Amino acid sequence: VLAAALTAALTSCGQEARGGSRYQPDKGKGGTIGLAMPTKSSERWIADGKNMAKQFRKAGYKTDLQYGDDKVENQVAQIENMITKGHRLLVIAAIDGSALTNVLKRAADANIPVISYDRLILGTKNVDYYASFDNERVGELQGQYILDRLKLKKPDKSADKHYNIELFAGSPDDNNTKYFWNGAMKKLRPFMKSGQLVVRSKQTKMNQATTLRWDGGTAQKRMDDLISKNYGSTDVDAVLSPYDGISIGIISALKSAGYGSKRHPLPIVTGQDAELASVKSIVAGQQTQTVFKDTRKLAKQAVQMGDAVLTGKKVEVNNTTDYDNGKKVVPAYLLKPVSVDKTNTQLLIDEGYFTKGQLK
Ligand code: BGC
Repeated sequence: VLAAALTAALTSCGQEARGGSRYQPDKGKGGTIGLAMPTKSSERWIADGKNMAKQFRKAGYKTDLQYGDDKVENQVAQIENMITKGHRLLVIAAIDGSALTNVLKRAADANIPVISYDRLILGTKNVDYYASFDNERVGELQGQYILDRLKLKKPDKSADKHYNIELFAGSPDDNNTKYFWNGAMKKLRPFMKSGQLVVRSKQTKMNQATTLRWDGGTAQKRMDDLISKNYGSTDVDAVLSPYDGISIGIISALKSAGYGSKRHPLPIVTGQDAELASVKSIVAGQQTQTVFKDTRKLAKQAVQMGDAVLTGKKVEVNNTTDYDNGKKVVPAYLLKPVSVDKTNTQLLIDEGYFTKGQLK
C-alpha cells in the first residue's frame, strides 16, 4: 500500500512538473517527429512530406513520414502507431478533419503536441497550432480572376452581357473547402445576383458542388453531366475549380464535349496548387489559372513551429482569431497564396519551384 501510494505521489509529482512545460522542452532536440500526410495522389502532399522530413532532420530530429492513401482509417492507425512508438510531435494534414478526436485524445494523454498542417483539425482541443495558407484568400483569388477575365467590374442589373459559369467545390470533409468556397463566392455572388453570371445548372450551393476527396474523375463526371444537361445550345464561359486535379478532370469533360479548338475555345478554368500538369496546361493555353502555394515555405513554417514547441521557444503565429475548430481557436500562421496564369508562370521558375525545362 505504501509503495503504491509512493508511486502515485511520484507520478502525480512528475505530471505536475510537466504541467508547466507540457511537452518536456528540457529534452531539447532529438527524438522522432511523426508526419501524417493524406495521400500521394497529388504532388503537393508528396512535396510537403519530403520537405518537412528534410527540414526536421536538418533541425536535429528523426522523422516518420506516413501517407494515408485518402482513407481515414489508415490515417488513424498511422497516428496511433506514432503515439505507441513515443514520437515527440505529430504534424498532421487530416484526410477528414473531424475524424481524429479519439486518437488525438491519446496523443494528449501521452503529452505529444500536435500541429495541424494545411487543413484544420476539428472538434478537439488537442491541437496546438495550425500552419496553413490564407485559405479564404485562395478562393478570392480564383473568384476575382474570373471577374477580371470576363471584365466584370461592378454588378449591374441592366447589363446586357451575360456569362455562363459552373461552380465546383473541394472535398466536403476538408475544412479548407468552405474557406475556398466562401472566398470565391464573396467575389462571384454579387454578379450572380445581378444576373451577369448565370449558373444554368442552378447548382449554386456548396453542398451541390463538392467533390469527395478532391477526386478529378468525380469532377469530370459531374462536368460531363452539367454540360449534357445544360449546355446544348449555348457554351459555358467559366468554371470555378478549387484544385488543379479537379481542373484537369473538368477540362477533359469539356474536351470530350468539343471545347478546345479555335472556333470553340475552352472556358476560363481556375485551379489551385500550381501542380506541374496544370502549369504545363496553362502554358499550353488550356487551364487558365492556378493558385501557387509554396509548400516549401509551409513546411519550413511547420518545422519552425514544431522545433519551438519542443525546445520551449516562443511559437510564431500571425492569426489568433479566425480558425475556430469548434473546441478552441487554434493559433495559426498563415502564408500568402499567389495567383498564376500564363502571364506570370515565370515566377515559378524564378522561385525555383520548377525548372525552365519542366514547363516546356
Ligand atoms: C489544400 C489544397 C489542395 C487540396 C487537395 C486542400 O486542403 O489546401 O492545397 O488542393 O487540399 O489536395
